[in-house]
Amino acid sequence: KIRVRFAPSPTGFLHVGGLRTALFNYLFAKSQKGDFILRIEDTDRERLVDGAAENLIKSLQSVGLMFDEGPGIGGKCAPYVQSERLEHYRTHTDLLLEKDRAYRCFCTSEELDAMREEQKRRKMQTRYTGKCRRLTPAEIEDRLKRGIPYTIRMKINYSAVEVVFNDLIRGRISIKTSQLEDQVLMKSDGYPTYHLANVVDDRLMGITHVIRGEEWLPSTPKHVLLYQYFDRTPPHFAHLPLLLNPDKSKLSKRQGDVATEDFLKKGYLPEALINFIALLGWNSGDDREIYSTDELIQEFSLEKIGKAGAVFDLQKLNWMNKSYIAKLTADELLERLTPYLNETYRSQDKIRLAEALALARGGLIKLSDINEKLDFLLNDGVEFTDPALRALVQTPDAKRIFSEFITEAEQLTDWNEQSITLIMKNIQKKTGIKGKDLWIPVRIAVSHEEHGPELPILSVFYGCNRQKQEQKNTEQ
Ligand code: GLU
Repeated sequence: KIRVRFAPSPTGFLHVGGLRTALFNYLFAKSQKGDFILRIEDTDRERLVDGAAENLIKSLQSVGLMFDEGPGIGGKCAPYVQSERLEHYRTHTDLLLEKDRAYRCFCTSEELDAMREEQKRRKMQTRYTGKCRRLTPAEIEDRLKRGIPYTIRMKINYSAVEVVFNDLIRGRISIKTSQLEDQVLMKSDGYPTYHLANVVDDRLMGITHVIRGEEWLPSTPKHVLLYQYFDRTPPHFAHLPLLLNPDKSKLSKRQGDVATEDFLKKGYLPEALINFIALLGWNSGDDREIYSTDELIQEFSLEKIGKAGAVFDLQKLNWMNKSYIAKLTADELLERLTPYLNETYRSQDKIRLAEALALARGGLIKLSDINEKLDFLLNDGVEFTDPALRALVQTPDAKRIFSEFITEAEQLTDWNEQSITLIMKNIQKKTGIKGKDLWIPVRIAVSHEEHGPELPILSVFYGCNRQKQEQKNTEQ
């Protein structure tokens, strides 16, 4: 059975790059009727952030990526948090020490720094010199007795020529062992490094496919060697292409721009975000862009993931979100918008609010835009400050149009879409001004915006506001 895992380190928020990794693992698992496992890799105690693991889980759940095994829900390989699995790493390093595949290193960090400086000075590759490989059993015994702290390093066989493995996306990869170094597997604080813990857990949890970001590709040869040392066949590897900004630089790390939770807070719909993220490095081979999560599961395959970096194009996400919003029914939209609505709009007369939402929804890119859109429809007190728009209504032509509009409107008995269209035609005849030059100044005067719903529809909407207001005044 296919088993995959998403293995984040709880060092902050869920980056959209992490979300992409989680999603591809999820889609692969579901398309193969396999298991999707969440494992928290928290062995780097210095980088831990309080609450980060809970936050990651919350973000995954809010976009519907439910895991089959993991923290909180358990499973047959529990626990799923590495800091609770220390004894496994200990038995594995014992095994490696016994097989002479690893050794204890008593070098202090000052000694290691000095080594590195010396190598730099001599323009050599900087790596551990293997000094402690040469300690005799008696010397080791003596140091252990004296309680000198040590790390455990894997022994690289530098005379072997190369490590080779196949990557499902990048094909055959080979690396010379001379480019590797005796990687620390266990730190002196008793916690394993990422490399050891990752390999031990992938093995113990029966992971069949390791799907992760390309930044882990350089670590993979070490992992392949560790599998050999443990006499195990490595899982399949698939390294996902990097995410890039539109200028092809590496995608930013600033929280507000790349945190899944912030996209959701701004009112990107989970289903739109998932659809967008799925297309970062994967496509089904045609031009199709809109997929529900179920459709993605149907279509997804690792073969269709590309090697080239994938551009994170916010414009495209905006377009996609807009089209998902457009598909919601009025009730669904209202439900999704409710958490975003200002108190005043939330307590509006229901029918009036529904009418206003029907007009405002076309302009929404994300749900959090709603108040600004409603301000012009429901709030008479909004100030008209945009200088560019102000200029458009202060031209002599605009002033002529307005005075004609007032004259015409005063004669109207019935304020409806047809009568307003008719007024506009009359003004066109009288002034000779037509098209955009005629409509835009009136639109701006009416709604303080250049774009939006049709002018007659808007005017009727505002007209109703007026009537209601007058009614209220007479009642008082
Ligand atoms: N803990 C690593 C991370 O934070 C996991 C890498 C892997 O999937 O092997 O991304």
